[in-house]
Amino acid sequence: MEIKMNLTKSPKAKPDWNKLGFGKIFTDHMFVMDWNSEKGWYDARIEPFGNLSLHPAATVFHYGAEIFEGLKAYRRPDGEVQLFRPWENIKRLNNSAERLSLPQVDEAFTLDALKKFVALEKDWVPSLPGTSLYLRPFLFGNDETLGVHTIHNAKFLIIASPVGAYYAEGLNPVKIMIETEDVRAVRGGTGYTKCGGNYAASMRAGDRAAAEGYSQVLWLDGVERKYIEEVGAMNVMFLINDTVVTPKLTGSILPGITRKSCIELLKEMGCKVEERLLSVDELEKAMQDGTLKEAWGCGTAAVISPIGELRINGTSFTVADGGIGKLSQKLYDTLTDIQWGKAPDTHQWTCKVD
Ligand SMILES: *Cc1c(COP(=O)(O)O)cnc(C)c1O
Repeated sequence: MEIKMNLTKSPKAKPDWNKLGFGKIFTDHMFVMDWNSEKGWYDARIEPFGNLSLHPAATVFHYGAEIFEGLKAYRRPDGEVQLFRPWENIKRLNNSAERLSLPQVDEAFTLDALKKFVALEKDWVPSLPGTSLYLRPFLFGNDETLGVHTIHNAKFLIIASPVGAYYAEGLNPVKIMIETEDVRAVRGGTGYTKCGGNYAASMRAGDRAAAEGYSQVLWLDGVERKYIEEVGAMNVMFLINDTVVTPKLTGSILPGITRKSCIELLKEMGCKVEERLLSVDELEKAMQDGTLKEAWGCGTAAVISPIGELRINGTSFTVADGGIGKLSQKLYDTLTDIQWGKAPDTHQWTCKVD
């Protein structure tokens, strides 16, 4: 399929690169394509960034048929722009689509479209330390009827937003609260997909945690409320004695690309890594007896987020000395050096645009 180009006649002024924040500024263009059950995907195009016009009965507004991805384009020291494992995001998008009965995309075409789009918006990829161009592909059901039935019309877009350094002054430990009332996902549900609905259902717990001074919640499994799952928009890892323990992918946890990359890097560093069930009781015990050495969240936005404080059933525990663990820091440095092209990419994880 050809990508039609309709470029803006009035490019925006570039922002102050020192004040980007997250997801507030958008580039000049967006990638769009449409789907219907007869034609498949059609009308792939890059057009000026702007509002969408949608029928008020569109499926997405009523039944939440929406999935998304999140990845970044990085400015290398040599000035070129690269993506980090983008094929993994496209594969995951299709896994999410399959679960929600939304149409899947052609992976090779979509990767090509993503690269073309980023190449076009290259001047929007910032170069200050820690900054990047955040890419948000998303796909939703767009049938113009209130009937609940299989999707016949859908839309796929990619929008892009230059984002600031997550940590202006080095890694910053966060306070996390274990959520004991709400659950985010159950086995058999949509926990392993990146769908908007998972987030809608997690807002209340997030608000409650924020009201008590915690930045995110740590979710427990939805059945026994006993096993650690993940944090907000991050997977989670714990260094217990000399072993990194991370919840295994049971179907209710999002299979993070940062998680997968961390596991591979940790093993190369000679660390023992266990993907398994980890109960709150085991974690609480490890905090009490001092065998919990480090804890961190991992995801595309923050890369590594050290956990300084953890609250369990009303009791707050400081993780080790509450600071940034050695392994967290090393993992952050190793991974970000690959992502920003400062270290050789020995894993073939990156690909340049153009
Ligand atoms: C996106 C996401 C993650 C992290 O995935 P990455 O691919 O590492 O960015 C973790 N948990 C949830 C719920 C997510 O939506």
